[in-house]
Amino acid sequence: NNQIILAERPQGMPDDSTFQFVQKEVANVREGQILIKTLYVSVDPYMRGRMVDAESYIEPFKVNEVIEGGSIGEVIESKSNKFQEGDVVTGMFGWQEYYAADENEIRQIDPSIAPITTHLGILGMTGLTAYFGLLDIGKPKEGETVVISGAAGSVGSTVGQIAKIKGARVVGIAGSDEKINYLKEELGFDAGINYRTTNDIERDLAQDCPDGVDVYFDNVGGKISDAVMTQLNRYARIPVCGAISTYNQEEPDIGPRVQQTLIKKSALMQGFTVANYADRFKEGAQQLGSWLQEGKLTYRETIREGFENIPDAFLDLFKGRNIGKLLVKVADR
Ligand code: NDP
Repeated sequence: NNQIILAERPQGMPDDSTFQFVQKEVANVREGQILIKTLYVSVDPYMRGRMVDAESYIEPFKVNEVIEGGSIGEVIESKSNKFQEGDVVTGMFGWQEYYAADENEIRQIDPSIAPITTHLGILGMTGLTAYFGLLDIGKPKEGETVVISGAAGSVGSTVGQIAKIKGARVVGIAGSDEKINYLKEELGFDAGINYRTTNDIERDLAQDCPDGVDVYFDNVGGKISDAVMTQLNRYARIPVCGAISTYNQEEPDIGPRVQQTLIKKSALMQGFTVANYADRFKEGAQQLGSWLQEGKLTYRETIREGFENIPDAFLDLFKGRNIGKLLVKVADR
């Protein structure tokens, strides 16, 4: 059983010394357990936070233990009444090829509804994050302007489409022309800004948001967010979803203090984690599923192949080498 463990806690950008490949015997399956063969693993920016030993909303990874994370697998042996061989399941079994799971820590997914990979993306954690963060905190109204950073990623691309469904003007900020084209041509965004090539994001925002910014869905933090904060309207809402531009910083960077902006604009800035909405996941997944079926929502996935490429795929998140959800395919069904 190939596994990837956290070899040491990274400082700054993780690298080869952060991760170690190890081989272990496949565990014996006890009563009430099933053996899962991993098919796809999710790599997610929040995992960077778990590599550090700091208090957070989720436990840090333990050194020398398998990196946990969302995965999809196939049941290859079952000593549980709830699952049969061949079932497709999802859980947090992470970066390993096989896993003996207790029947209560995994969930079956129905491969007939949508491709199974969608349960790690648009119908899974990132889709739900977009749905609840935008609708519960951002509350976009028809005709308002919604700006999204990290707009071509898994969360951002979903946020923008939901904002369009709600009748908003949508402006995305992302790191390549290919991504900006994708947002405008395929997802119906009204405008897009390539933050890597522009020399003045504030000016671009002012142009693309002639009526100001009512909702800023923040995935990245840092300078991009500083720029958006200058364009807020009165009563703007700012769901703070992520701050990926700061995850690998060794020293916190200090930007403009936002308090005065929030006061002057009576703006609401609220951090959240998707887990806050656990009791409403069913509602969220159903709504996302219907929009998908009605063709109101679409998605892209960037799928890497091979267990050995999981750490590199994870690092690619910080280099912007994905459009939509980044996944690694580990085995065929
Ligand atoms: P993405 O699919 O958006 O992938 C990450 C993207 O971030 C990259 O493609 C890259 O795109 C962008 N990025 C990387 N480094 C920087 C940088 N220095 N400055 C600006 N952009 C950068 O990942 P997810 O959709 O999974 O996650 C998006 C955000 O949402 C993350 O911050 C994540 O931590 C957060 N999140 C929060 C959750 C919550 O419960 N609060 C749950 C899930 C995710 P580009 O080319 O545009 O730079």
